[in-house]
Amino acid sequence: KMRREKTVETPYEVSSSTRSESEQYENIDYFMKKRLSVWCPVPGGLWKSGKIQSISGEEASIKLSDGTVIEASTEELLPANPASFEGIYDLTRLSYLNEPSVLHNLECRFCGDMVYSKAGPLLIAINPFKDVQLYGDDVITAYRQKLTNEPHVYATADNAYNQMMRDGENQSIIISGESGAGKTETANLAVEYLVALCDEQSSLKDKILKGSHILEAFGNAKTSTNDNSSRFLRLVKRAKGERSYHIFYQLCAGAPSSLKDRLNLKMANQYKYLNQSECLEIRSVDDASKFQMLMEALDIIQISKDTQGHIFELLAAVLWLGNISFNKVDTESCVEVAPDEALTTAARMVGCSTQELISVLSAPEDGTSEKLTLQEAIDIRDGLAKVIYASLFDWLVELINKSLEVDKQEAERSISILDVCGFESFQKNSFEQICINYGSERLHQHFARHLLKLEQEAYEFDGLDWIKVDYEDNHECLNLFEKKSLGLFSLLDEESCLPTGTDSTFLNKLKQHLNGNPCFKEDRNGFFKIRHFTGEVLYDSNGFLDKNRDTTHANLSQLLSSICLLSRFAPNVLNQSQAPTSFSSELHALESQKHLIGSKYKDQLFKLMQQLEHTNPHFILCIRPNSEQLPSIYSKELVLHQLRYSGVLEVVTIARVSYPTQMAYEEFANRYAFLLSEKNVLQDPLDISVAVLQHCNVLPEMYQVGYKKLYMRAGLIDMLEDMKKQV
Ligand code: ATP
Ligand code: MG
Repeated sequence: KMRREKTVETPYEVSSSTRSESEQYENIDYFMKKRLSVWCPVPGGLWKSGKIQSISGEEASIKLSDGTVIEASTEELLPANPASFEGIYDLTRLSYLNEPSVLHNLECRFCGDMVYSKAGPLLIAINPFKDVQLYGDDVITAYRQKLTNEPHVYATADNAYNQMMRDGENQSIIISGESGAGKTETANLAVEYLVALCDEQSSLKDKILKGSHILEAFGNAKTSTNDNSSRFLRLVKRAKGERSYHIFYQLCAGAPSSLKDRLNLKMANQYKYLNQSECLEIRSVDDASKFQMLMEALDIIQISKDTQGHIFELLAAVLWLGNISFNKVDTESCVEVAPDEALTTAARMVGCSTQELISVLSAPEDGTSEKLTLQEAIDIRDGLAKVIYASLFDWLVELINKSLEVDKQEAERSISILDVCGFESFQKNSFEQICINYGSERLHQHFARHLLKLEQEAYEFDGLDWIKVDYEDNHECLNLFEKKSLGLFSLLDEESCLPTGTDSTFLNKLKQHLNGNPCFKEDRNGFFKIRHFTGEVLYDSNGFLDKNRDTTHANLSQLLSSICLLSRFAPNVLNQSQAPTSFSSELHALESQKHLIGSKYKDQLFKLMQQLEHTNPHFILCIRPNSEQLPSIYSKELVLHQLRYSGVLEVVTIARVSYPTQMAYEEFANRYAFLLSEKNVLQDPLDISVAVLQHCNVLPEMYQVGYKKLYMRAGLIDMLEDMKKQV
């Protein structure tokens, strides 16, 4: 959380923490006398700018820009920046650094369609929700030729590329922000820029861009906060007003009639997996033309027409599986598969006989010949659909990678771009949200570690005079999830493996073991709250165990081997020349992962973070300016909330007083000792270094002498280099 006294040395800030009261009034007097603007707090937690008219004791009377006059405590006033600073591109250059100034500066830029700003090393991108004319070939050229200093995702990508080439070090571009903030768009723009750097291979360029286009169709869906959200776990069930993956609606709307006939394809509203959430269309999105674009993308990736046909069959298989229904067989609660169009079409799409599909859908977990209950049968059906879709997705990734020849040339150096599902908090939050939000916690930790922790630790370690900039760290919340045997994921696994485990026994365990954690809170029946770095989220424990177990994955192996259902289908799918990895091998890889979903996700995240730790990171923070996905609306409350929990003010505070150039004394002495005019009698590199700095009249605030290194502010080394040239 940002605190006023922790911000930088402005007359006010310093006065409120270290100066005497009379000095503080002097400063405010100065502001009044010079008619300088101040920020005055107004109800609702925001500020308005105005000028001090009079001061009486601790109360000041302020005339706001709209003419109204209000009273405020002098302690709560914050200095505003002169008008000439309005819309400055790097927040570290503000002469007064405080929350209202940052918020206002970003707003000025946003209103002028300058959606990118710098916060020291961090790029801030505010989602414009409209075409801002900041992209395309000409702009890319301008950044390549360094014709502009304006912050941009292109500039960040350019930087990453240049550093990789210069230092031979792997780079990463890490994009964070909540759902709908613009991460995926930003990632695509970074790819667009990097791809533009490899002009000789234009076919590769096209393939890379189309590859991500395909993955978006299969991996993104509409949620209530983002029409094109990067998602998972949503094939068979989801909240009202949300859609399943785009590809299903695109297929139903855009398939040519011959393909429709082949797949026995109906309208999207005829499929239970699609019509259950009462949302089939997205405002201003034409699914049919999106399907045309997808087919072109598949062609460019060089996926053969045959394979494309099989991909569409698998999609149709999923849709038809969802329509399979079950009839009661006798007075007991057992069911059998209804022999209708859904069953026969699904079987045809999967490539087996109706009878074979019936036996898969009727086989109980324990291998006995018992008949299934309705719920068991539904679980198997939905599980089969999920496993087909998940394997199809992995297979597509393989096909795209193959087409890009990613495997063939083991890259010497790389730039990784990270775009994940963004934090979300709905009225009702379930297992999906907890996975996504845990992922955001992990990412935030990485962000804070690099931008707030490591640099400060290095200063302290080397004995620098450094006033620590505090920030809220999220280790308690991570602990809540990750703690061995007693963290949320371990408890969830334990309960998921117990035959007697239910959502409510799981919740009881949480209460029993997590009550000591400050981020955990009990709530009304069946619910619990977690205090994330972004704020508190209410979770409904209902359905957690089922979603975590995803039983069908574990049992599928047995089911499949009993009739070799999909592995027999696989040879049809396979086109050896282009797909050494087949759909069936993806399927088997998937089913052999017996992990429960939650801990599998946690492990994958760990691996990812480990990989990222071996790269030189570049951070981009995406900000959602309003909740309505509308252009030109800048909700101050919403933006301020995101700036606060991301620690932007702290990042800027550190960047303003940091020492970007650091050099060992030996190196410094070697480079600059000759600047000393008299014969140098000093021996020790540290003494020589200090003598050089004094000889060159460098102000003491421009550097610090550490135990091991000399720490220099921005600009100092350039100045010394200039002097060197003049000698
Ligand atoms: P999630 O976490 O849900 O995946 P996200 O952060 O990836 O969300 P995006 O899908 O990138 O969010 O962005 C949401 C929408 O905002 C986009 O579909 C697009 O309409 C708009 N948008 C994002 N960035 C830009 C941009 N630079 N210019 C114009 N519109 C944008
Ligand atoms: Mg996204």
